[in-house]
Amino acid sequence: MKTREEWAAAAAEQTKSFKTRCYIGGAFVEPRSEKTFDCINPATGRALVQVAAGDVRDIDAAVSSARAAFERGLWRNMPPRRRGQVLLRLADLIEHHRDELALLETLDIGKPIRYTDRVDLEQCVYTLRWFGELADKLYDEMAPTPPHVVGLITREPVGVVGVITPWNFPMMITAWKIAPALVTGNSVVLKPAEQSPLSALRIAELAREAGVPPGVFNVVPGDGESAGKPLALHDDVDAIAFTGSTAVGKKLLTYAGESNMKRVSLETGGKTPNIIFADAPDLGFALRAVGFSTFWNTGQMCVAGSRLLVERSRHDEVVERLAAVAADWLPGDPLDPASKAGPLVDSEQLATVTRYIELGKSEGAALVYGGARALEQSGGYFVQPTIFSGVQNEMSIARDEIFGPVLSVIPFDDEAEALRIANDTRYGLSAALWTSNLARAHRVSAALRAGTVWVNNFDQADMTAPFGGFKASGNGGKDKSKWAVDKYTNLKTTWINIGKGGR
Ligand code: NAD
Repeated sequence: MKTREEWAAAAAEQTKSFKTRCYIGGAFVEPRSEKTFDCINPATGRALVQVAAGDVRDIDAAVSSARAAFERGLWRNMPPRRRGQVLLRLADLIEHHRDELALLETLDIGKPIRYTDRVDLEQCVYTLRWFGELADKLYDEMAPTPPHVVGLITREPVGVVGVITPWNFPMMITAWKIAPALVTGNSVVLKPAEQSPLSALRIAELAREAGVPPGVFNVVPGDGESAGKPLALHDDVDAIAFTGSTAVGKKLLTYAGESNMKRVSLETGGKTPNIIFADAPDLGFALRAVGFSTFWNTGQMCVAGSRLLVERSRHDEVVERLAAVAADWLPGDPLDPASKAGPLVDSEQLATVTRYIELGKSEGAALVYGGARALEQSGGYFVQPTIFSGVQNEMSIARDEIFGPVLSVIPFDDEAEALRIANDTRYGLSAALWTSNLARAHRVSAALRAGTVWVNNFDQADMTAPFGGFKASGNGGKDKSKWAVDKYTNLKTTWINIGKGGR
């Protein structure tokens, strides 16, 4: 891997060639809005570049282009194997440009270069390959009918899919959405988060090079109100696939009801309970996982294990050992390959996290580590990893998704109390527990109301298994795995009369 100085030199060079306009109909075009916004580097607080601020006119153009491409049928009628090959080529191209794309993502969101390279980029490539290979392995079905009829059950692409993404894993989540949408023959209009528009624009350009026909994959950067809302309200969009906050997810359901009742699938927020029972098999391993689960990506993770429930007999020992865990996640320059933590994504996120730290103190929790800004001289939005003990589940820091490196330690007395606290949340994205008791592992994981449960590990994941939440963490289908295609396809039943009999 390059040194910090080499990455910085590459960044200075690369900034000159950023793609910043809307990508519609297979080409970069000036925004019809005639507006741009500052794309900020969160590690410096300075603007990297000006990016097109799409509005309803750009969304209209992109949706028309997507619809025309869908109607032309070049993509949707392509043999599935060939569509799959295009996705595999796109994966190859992204891998070929890995330094460029990893750097783009690091500059755009402040995530350390070691992770944009080894996690975001690799997961993006893996996702495209996985779905590319799935292309000709999706079979339709025939109903078990009487002999005079044939009942065909086939999958059809829904048509035009609007994709709205967040900023915490831009490349990876873009791939989670576009790979199953494209492989099943849909056209896509993607609205990336305003904090992270750059990688999506470059991936759209590479998709064209890989063989995605013009109009099949369009990208309109812009903010939520000006570009996301008109996409979600559009009468010619058949489905919205969204990852982001619960508050915006709820709005999208309303927009669907106010327009054409389009299908809406939501992957939203979380407040993951991470439960350490006294019989945890390896406390050192569990605590390292706590560090990763709360401080990786500066806590900006939907699955962040930000509520640490600890059985009272080990509570004090855990709190004492956590300081060393947090010290391992002090922020640094994201271009330095040694850095494990970067800044928060923008000044707004910094203000939110700071407000929650103050709320934690004023509501009576004990600040045992961090709690302040870091590296202020850089101009970036850095904050220390922060730990509160003595937290009660009713406190704001335990109830709300902070989306920053803030851990709340909550003691409990027995299994029943642990479960009650764990499930006492509006969210249900994920949960984790640490125990040596097999019966308890089964009992507690079955009783946890969460889309993913980890036993004696945290954040295990793979493209072979679905990902998505219960309750206010998700609705309308899963990302990843073969189940993801359900979001992007309609089931059609066709009855063919082949003889006499019946009605
Ligand atoms: P956000 O909801 O603020 O924004 C997400 C996207 O929605 C952005 O592209 C934004 O521009 C757009 N948007 C905002 N207002 C809109 C509107 N009125 N209409 C249409 N689009 C609108 O979320 P964020 O801050 O970008 O991301 C953080 C959130 O994402 C957290 O809540 C996190 O838990 C969640 N998240 C969930 C998962 C998951 O898989 N469950 C994964 C990653 C992030």
